[in-house]
Parts: sequence; C-alpha cells; structure tokens
Amino acid sequence: MDFTPPERAVELTERVKTFIRDEVIPLEKQAHHKDGLSPEQLAAVRTQARDAGIYNPQIPVEYGGLGLDLLECCPVFEAAGYSLLGPLALNCSAPDEGNMHLLHHIGTKPQKERYLLPLIEGNTRSCFAMTEPAPGAGSDPTMIRTHAEKRPDHWVINGHKTYATGADGAAFFIVMARTNPDVPATEGCTLFLVDAGTPGLEMVRRIEGLTIPAPGGHCELMFENCTVPEDRVLGEVGKGFKFAQVRLGPARLTHCMRWIGAAQRALDVAGAYMVEREAFGVRLAQHEGLQWMLADSAIELHAARMMTFQASWLIAQGDEARNEAAMCKVFVSEAINRVIDRALQICGSLGISEDLPIANIYREARAFRIYDGPSEVHRMVIARRMLKQLRNERTTRI
Ligand SMILES: Cc1cc2nc3c(=O)[nH]c(=O)nc-3n(C[C@H](O)[C@H](O)[C@H](O)COP(=O)(O)OP(=O)(O)OC[C@H]3O[C@@H](n4cnc5c(N)ncnc54)[C@H](O)[C@@H]3O)c2cc1C
Repeated sequence: MDFTPPERAVELTERVKTFIRDEVIPLEKQAHHKDGLSPEQLAAVRTQARDAGIYNPQIPVEYGGLGLDLLECCPVFEAAGYSLLGPLALNCSAPDEGNMHLLHHIGTKPQKERYLLPLIEGNTRSCFAMTEPAPGAGSDPTMIRTHAEKRPDHWVINGHKTYATGADGAAFFIVMARTNPDVPATEGCTLFLVDAGTPGLEMVRRIEGLTIPAPGGHCELMFENCTVPEDRVLGEVGKGFKFAQVRLGPARLTHCMRWIGAAQRALDVAGAYMVEREAFGVRLAQHEGLQWMLADSAIELHAARMMTFQASWLIAQGDEARNEAAMCKVFVSEAINRVIDRALQICGSLGISEDLPIANIYREARAFRIYDGPSEVHRMVIARRMLKQLRNERTTRI
C-alpha cells in the first residue's frame, strides 16, 4: 500500500490542527457543564467549524459533509482528537459518528430524513444501546435478554440496558433486542429506532465513574412495554448482529484515530515540560530514563498509526478487515494508555493536576480498553481464528 496520506486529507488536517489550537483548546478550561460543553457552547463552536469548512468531515458530500473515506479520516480525526472536545466540535465524535454511519448505510429514506439529517446538522444527539447489566449482554453479546415481541402493527420492547453513551438528552436510541428466541442470538436479534419520550422507555440514571463529563453521559435504561411502530426496525428483522458490525468495524478504527491524537497531545505536553524543568542539576530532558520513555512512546504511536492506517485502507477498499481491525483496537487502546501514563509520569505532580490536560486524557482513555470489545475478547477471537487457520492451512498466520 501507499502510505502517503491523500492530498486533500493533508490540507484539511492542517486546517483542523489550526482550528483545534485556536478555537477548541481555549474552550477546555470553560467546559464546566455536566455535558462538558453546554449546548450553547457546543452550537457556537460547531458554527465556527462549519465556517472554517471542517465540519462533518466523514459525512458524504450529498448530505453536505466533506466526504472523506476511512483512510482520509485517519489524519483528520487524529488532529481533531488532539483536544477531547475536538471531535464534538467537528461532529465526528462517538457515538453519533458511528450511528450516522449505520443510518447512512442501512436506514430507509424516511429513517434518514427523521434521524440522520438532524444528526448531521448537529441539532440532535443519539445513543446506541446494546450492553446490559448481568445476567444480560456484556462482553458476550449473545447473552442478550432485552426482547421485542411482534404485534400486528408494532413491536413491544422489554429489557434493561446499561452504559449507553449519550443517552441523557438523546433524541433517539438504537436498541438491540432479541426478536426470535428459537434461533441463536446472532440470527435472532434486531435493531430498533426508539424516540426519546416513548412511553415505557425510562432513563434510570447517568452512571458516574472514571470518565470526564461528555454529552449525555453513560446511562442505565429500562424498557417496559415500550411500543415502537413497525417502520422503526433499522435494517432487517433478525439481522441486528450483522448490521451492528457495519457500525462497529469502522467505529473501532475512528476511536483509534481520535485516541492517537489525544495521546500525541499528552506526549507533546510532557516533552515541553521535560525541556523546561530541572532536576539534579540538569533539565529533565537530559535524563536518559525519561528520554527512553519519550522514544518508547514515539515508537508505539508510530506503530499505532500504521496499524490504523492499514486497517482503514482495507476497509476503504471494501474489505471487512475483521482481523486487522481487532488487532488494531487491542494494540492502539493499550499503547495509547501506556503513552498517556508515561506522559503523566514525566510531568510529576503537575501531570496529576488539572493545570495540564493530561489528567483528563488519562481518566478518559482507560475505558477504551473496555468499550467496543475488551482487549481480552478481541484476543480470544483473534486466537480462535489463528487456531482455525492452523487446522485448515497448517499455519497460525491470519
Ligand atoms: C465509557 C464506556 C462507554 C460505553 N458505551 C457504550 C454504548 O454506547 N453502548 C453500549 O451498548 N455499550 C457501551 N459500553 C459498554 C461496553 O461495550 C461494555 O463494557 C463491554 O462490552 C464489556 O461488557 P461488560 O462491561 O459487561 O464486561 P463483562 O462482560 O462483565 O466482562 C468483564 C471483563 O471480563 C473480561 N472478559 C470477558 N470475556 C473474556 C474472555 N473471553 N477472556 C478473558 N477475559 C474476558 C474482560 O476483561 C472484561 O472487561 C460502554 C462502556 C464504557 C466503559
């Protein structure tokens, strides 16, 4: 493959970098709302992003976006991720970015008009509700217990969901539910579009935790005889798992892109501290122990970029790249946590403080090793494919 980033992505990346430096990073100190930015602050910075011609980079041109493919998104999303607020400003943050991708690919025309267009405009937010508390679906999504029963002209959903990002204040929810208990879950589940305010859908609570404030938080949801019209099936009945993959494959990589940007920021901040601060008669930068931390971080970020680039290139060519995306997700989520941890260590007590951005990046990054499939689950799947390959082809190479 050609590793040269496409020209228009290079040009756009430079503009995104400038925008993040001049308009978004200054906002970080003002993000005191429970959603991080208040709705007014978010609307204002999105208007600025629109005016700068960098809004909706991943949205197809026919919907008014910039039409980048997944490969072109790599440097642009990394530049946006340099601030944790950047992807929000450009309307390419999770979960909306993945939900827009899914709606674009499998939504009907009326569904696109009702749900996708307002998301693209940035007028609404969305939520993807798959995970359940024990004994329901978690690492093993086939343990799903939320179910939907068909009535003559509608569906009735019952179940319990947890850790649904962005649920508080979302305009709609994409909900995975079992619709056929007589076949394996992989063939018996369906995605539904459920409007906020539908009777029977209760937002139980925002779950407080390690992560920093973000739009809609992470929420527990209850569905009790929640009735949705027939035309709110997203995709096809029984194809929920197949279509969830349409969202999850690219979404894992866009997470990697944004997180590489955040880790690079942490490293840049640590580098700047090293060249200023003195200890034991010399600058920190002159201590070999810290130089090695810097170099190890650069090596890991380089490998992370290359893996993300290659898996994105495969997907942009129409390949599912399941192995590459899984390997990339494991490596990048663990590598960026190591890079951010080293950056924090280099900055000493200042790294722990809110005076630098590293503490927030550190808090937020940890969950990436868990969401979109914990590292262990991806390793299990990769190893199973290797062993299958060994049985069939006498090699573990996948
Ligand atoms: C910040 C954040 C945002 C999230 N956003 C969403 C969202 O928007 N929508 C949504 O539906 N879900 C969301 N989730 C949930 C996420 O997808 C789940 O946390 C994840 O799938 C794991 O499920 P679980 O938490 O129930 O872990 P469990 O299933 O309880 O597993 C616990 C741990 O067991 C280990 N484990 C599991 N299987 C194996 C194995 N085979 N071998 C070895 N070890 C194993 C792993 O270390 C795992 O972390 C989010 C989670 C977080 C933390």
